[in-house]
Amino acid sequence: MNNQWKCYYCETELEDGKECTCEKSKERKGYVTSNAVKSEKGYKCSCGNDRFRQTGHMDFSTCYSTTYKCSECGSCISVQFDRSEESMAYWG
Ligand SMILES: [Zn+2]
Ligand SMILES: [Zn+2]
Repeated sequence: MNNQWKCYYCETELEDGKECTCEKSKERKGYVTSNAVKSEKGYKCSCGNDRFRQTGHMDFSTCYSTTYKCSECGSCISVQFDRSEESMAYWG
């Protein structure tokens, strides 16, 4: 499965390796897979369900990502955030 990433804040779809240039992204980059739909309370699945089970979490030196599985249709949604400069120092 190879989901497209989009900006977590403004939902601009991003090609591989591309970065969003919106104001929020300048502070801290965040991405979510394009099968997630933005709502008032955050992201929900494209099927309309907003309950997820966390299925994975990965830590990298410059970012971390978490994967969730929709409890209704089983779609997997991933979010990825850059670490802040402080935590990057911590992670070395
Ligand atoms: Zn953006
Ligand atoms: Zn779903």
